[in-house]
Formats: sequence, C-alpha cells, structure tokens
Amino acid sequence: MNDIFVEKFGGASVNSAKAVKNVETILKLSEKKRIVVISAMGKTTNHLENLVNNFFNKKDIEEEYFYILNYHTQLIEELFNNLDASTALSKLQELCRELINRLNSLSSTDYNFLYDSIVSFGERISTMIVSEFLNQIGLKNILLSAKDIIKTDNNYRDANIDWMATQYAVEQNLLPLFSCYDTIIVQGFLGGTKEGLFTTLGREGSDYSASILAHCTKALSMTIWKDVPGLLNADPKRIKQTTKLSSVPYREAIELSYYGASIIHPKTIKPIENLSIPLYIKSFVSPLDKGSVICDKQELIPKVTNYIFKDNQILLSISPKDFSFIGEKNIAIIFSILAKNKVKVNLMQNSAISFSLCFDENRNILPQLLDDLQEYYNVKYNISLQLITLRHYTPEAVESVLRNKKILIEQKNRTTAQFLVEDIE
Ligand code: ASP
Ligand code: MG
Repeated sequence: MNDIFVEKFGGASVNSAKAVKNVETILKLSEKKRIVVISAMGKTTNHLENLVNNFFNKKDIEEEYFYILNYHTQLIEELFNNLDASTALSKLQELCRELINRLNSLSSTDYNFLYDSIVSFGERISTMIVSEFLNQIGLKNILLSAKDIIKTDNNYRDANIDWMATQYAVEQNLLPLFSCYDTIIVQGFLGGTKEGLFTTLGREGSDYSASILAHCTKALSMTIWKDVPGLLNADPKRIKQTTKLSSVPYREAIELSYYGASIIHPKTIKPIENLSIPLYIKSFVSPLDKGSVICDKQELIPKVTNYIFKDNQILLSISPKDFSFIGEKNIAIIFSILAKNKVKVNLMQNSAISFSLCFDENRNILPQLLDDLQEYYNVKYNISLQLITLRHYTPEAVESVLRNKKILIEQKNRTTAQFLVEDIE
C-alpha cells in the first residue's frame, strides 16, 4: 500500500484568489502524500470552448482571448499580493502566446482535435498558478503534466484511457516523486496521446482524472471538494427540501449518474470501485464537515427518494410505413440509424406498431436523424419535454413531481420510476 490520497478541486474551488487561498487552507489541514487534481478556474473551459467555436467558424476570437488572459492576470495579481508574481505572470504569458501560436499553425479542419489542443490550456494555466503559489508560500509541490501520466487514444474530446500505458507512466513518472515531494499536482480533464498531444476526457472529466490516478496509485481514498455539503438527493434549485446522502453504495452512485444526476462524472466510479477505494464528497466551504462517502456498503443512508430532472427532452414516435410490427428487424434498423447519428437514448417504449424514444434535444443532429428515419418510417415528435427519474420512489414523491404535468411516457420497476412529461398550460 502506498498511503497516497487523491484530492480533486473543481473550477468553482479555484475561481478567485480567495478560493485558491482556501485550497491552501484545506491542504494544510493534514500532512499526507497526496495527488492534487485541479480543473480550469471558474468558467474558463466555457470561454475556451467559445474561442474554439469562433475560430472554427472564422469569427473573431479577440474578446474571448483577452477575457481569459485578463481573468488569470487579475487572479494572479490578487493572489500573490505581497509575494513575487513575476514567474506566474510570465508563465501565463508564455502559455497564452503558445495558445495563439497553436491557432495560427493549425491547419487541421478536425474540430475535435482543435478543441483539445486549445481547451486544454484551461487546466494548464490553473495548475501552473496553484503550483507556483503553493511553492511560494512554502507548500512544496511539483506539477506534472497529465499528458505524461494519463495516456489515451486519439479520440479527441472524449479520449479513452490506455490503462496499461497509464499504469506504467504512473509507476515510472509519478510514484518515484513521492520520495522528494508530498504534494504532486496534476491537471484534471486532460490526457495525452502516444505522440504527446493533449486530449480531453469529456466535460466535467476532472473527477474521472482523479479516479484514474486513485486507481493506478491504489490510493487510500479520493476526495472531491465541492461547493455543496456533499451529495444531495436532489438539485436544490428544483426541490425545496433536500437531504444530504451520508453513505452511497458504488452501484447506487453509478445508477444515479446514469439517469443524469449531475453529481459526478459518470465514468468516475468504476476505477475506484474495482479497488474499493472510498470517494468522499466534501464542502470546500466547511472542510471539517463530514460530507458524503461513496463506498462498498450495501445500503443507501439515509434511504430517501432521489430526484433527477432532465430538461429539453425530445420524444420521437416512430411507426413503420409498411404497417409491419415493431419487432427485432425494425428495432435493429432504428438503432443503427440512432448510432449513426450518435443519439443517446434516455428512455424507450414500444407498442405493436410504434416505437417511442426520448433523448437530449440537439438541433445539430435532428434534421439528419429525421431524414434517415423518414426513409422507412412515419415519425412524429414533441420537443421541450422533461424527463423525471425517481430512485426509491414513494407515492408521495411521485405525486409531488407530477403536479400540473401531463405524462407522455411512464415506466416503473421496483426501485425506479421515470416519467416523460410536459407542463399543463
Ligand atoms: N474544466 C473541465 C470542464 O469544465 C473539466 C472539469 O471541470 O471537470 O468541463
Ligand atoms: Mg468543473
């Protein structure tokens, strides 16, 4: 056992000078060998996405570029205050120059490739700033590039982990550093190809980065520091009275994220479940509070209903033009068309002559999807629907979410009830 701990700080926990100082406070609470995984600061990833989209569509990128440069410059100036900010500022300028040079030299028309080589600057900048700052205030650390540790294929924007190569890189490049350093900082969300190019692991992928590193170092635990007191049974913006879940079995966490609970990146659980590494979700505002743990236990504690709401759903009702039944053959055709158009189905149901399915609305793919389906089928669709999922539902919970709603599809099993609904005018 290596006695290593992995801690992940998301964008909101490093979005200002004050927030970064709070990271220092949290790290100083205990002395241990730890890998600190950090996301891009605040909303930087969104701004970098806008920059890439503008560049790709041959629009102006200046506004987003200067936003990113100024935001980080101001943060550094405030954070270093009486310390020496010159190294951090010159490294920031260097990274920003590299970003511009990349854009100027990229001849590729591959959007995903372009995306990864530019959006990766968010985490490259944030980790550089935090590492410089911590070193200056005496919290000795080393910054490792995720590109050299988290090895992936070149499926840009949603890269797949090469587990063998990653395990090898962790053992060769990361673990030996613990003989000189207690704190190793790594960028979340990023990985690298064999050729040494940056990749990204999908939005919100820093949780996954942390869990990959926890797995490969056989960490004692992993902690995600968040702006909520732990895992809640519902989004507080949707449900007035929420309950904090104190202990969540791995399986339950996987189910919840599968149905769309935005608790953690869906790929996060598997790597740590395999080695029974507990995952703590704790508040960076009150770090001494208990938070939630996702672990080996069998029972959800407390056993309350979990509410998951997904807006902007589209319902397609598909029926064969030739009056044939919905059987294996038609389902196979429908699914090959869905796969071709990269549609991820959230709910489906069939009757003898019609097949219904719902998925996240995406105006970019809908016209082509409809074209493809309409070759064989009559297709009707409804937009702007809501999918409500209740895990461990009760009659009262069901009644409360269905008030003033019209149900279009309803599905229940012993633990889960799902309703595709629209508002009653
Ligand atoms: N910075 C990335 C994002 O905003 C990854 C992460 O925060 O987990 O999606
Ligand atoms: Mg984030």
